[in-house]
Amino acid sequence: MTTAAAYAISAPDGRFAKTTIERRELGAHDVLIDIKYAGICHSDIHTARDEWHGTTYPCVPGHEIAGIVAAVGSAVTKHRVGDRVGVGCMVDSCGECEPCLAGEQQYCNRGATMTYNTRVPEEFQPGGVTYGGYSTQVVVTENFVLSIPEGIPLEQAAPLLCAGITLYSPLRHWNAGPGKQVAIIGMGGLGHVGVKIAAAMGAEVTVLSSSLSKQEDGLRFGARHYYATKDRQTFKDLRGRFDLILNTVSAELPIDDYMKLLNLDGTLVILGLPDNKLSVAPFTLANYRRSLAGSMIGGIPQTQEMLNFCAQHNIGAEIELISADRIDEAYERANASDVRYRFVIDAATM
Ligand SMILES: [Zn+2]
Ligand SMILES: [Zn+2]
Repeated sequence: MTTAAAYAISAPDGRFAKTTIERRELGAHDVLIDIKYAGICHSDIHTARDEWHGTTYPCVPGHEIAGIVAAVGSAVTKHRVGDRVGVGCMVDSCGECEPCLAGEQQYCNRGATMTYNTRVPEEFQPGGVTYGGYSTQVVVTENFVLSIPEGIPLEQAAPLLCAGITLYSPLRHWNAGPGKQVAIIGMGGLGHVGVKIAAAMGAEVTVLSSSLSKQEDGLRFGARHYYATKDRQTFKDLRGRFDLILNTVSAELPIDDYMKLLNLDGTLVILGLPDNKLSVAPFTLANYRRSLAGSMIGGIPQTQEMLNFCAQHNIGAEIELISADRIDEAYERANASDVRYRFVIDAATM
């Protein structure tokens, strides 16, 4: 087994503290990764604070992992020692069900093994629960290890493993591209990557943000238009405009108002996951044959495709690098939207 340093939280109202964890012995198909960077995702915050209920403590979050291969098992063919690699939200799945066979492991019928806070046998992760990327090392089966192409700095690649694929997958699924009007609600960790990717795909991108405070950044990332949603006129001006709207905001929004911004056969996709129920008027859906949909990260093949696409288009996340002893402070600031645009932990500080 490998002993790794980690930052763990031990109670919903606790603070992160340095600790050590064991990683499983390297199996034939396993890859041992020296973690260099781990992004801080809002899911980490929800889980660390037990806001989604069901957190097992101590909890080591982190599913935006970038690092270097330190060792490989005897049967590993996809990765070599020294390779630049990443791990996202999942570390295993059944591999046999219809979604898994289709490369959509995130929808595994038996439930994918998430990178942290999933109950697992002791031989999979000593401690009986998966521990994520706020750590110096991790052991992952090779099929769930992604290659990070040269050209994306590792620290900018880390957030792509969750935020990037969460936006890339629906943009591909609903055919964002030239001639398509795409709106991104929210200019945070998810939204800013979505703007870059959608623009690189050739879509005409509009940002719908509560204020115009990040307008300059949005236009620099590739958006053509930028509107403040606190201005009611926005909803009048943009009525019937979009083919696709991606909602990255996990706060409660007047979905009906946003649905009315869709054109014929337009789709609004929910990516942020607030607790509240959604309410939409049937007439709003029926008119223009609109759809309301959701999407959850993306499968392993598509995650690799996304990384390759981002390398090709020079896309990385905009990050603020922090030392591991500042995780609590970063959580406070992330919750206050006081980050441009993703916190990334430097694992060298653990
Ligand atoms: Zn995430
Ligand atoms: Zn499966």
